[in-house]
Amino acid sequence: MASCIVKFCKNTFRNCKKSEKKVQFYRIPKEDGIRRKWLDLCGISEVTTKDPRVCSAHFQEDDIGTETARNIPTLNLTAVPVLKLGIYMHFMYLHLTKIF
Ligand SMILES: [Zn+2]
Repeated sequence: MASCIVKFCKNTFRNCKKSEKKVQFYRIPKEDGIRRKWLDLCGISEVTTKDPRVCSAHFQEDDIGTETARNIPTLNLTAVPVLKLGIYMHFMYLHLTKIF
């Protein structure tokens, strides 16, 4: 059962399927630099689940592209999770964007 890896986020495949809101679950990028960014922003040091995903609740509208793959809107390549991460992670984001 895939669920969102963001701390405190309760979105899972199961409970989003039932609800009306369209939540997608995005795989964490494989490329090291951006992968590290995602994990840092999600507040986890390493992935421990088999199929780690971040749900669309954490991406800005601009980060979600217009193209779709199997009816799922794709993320822009530079997209990182920034929303609903908690206040600490928001500062982390500001810090990261200053560096990169
Ligand atoms: Zn989530």
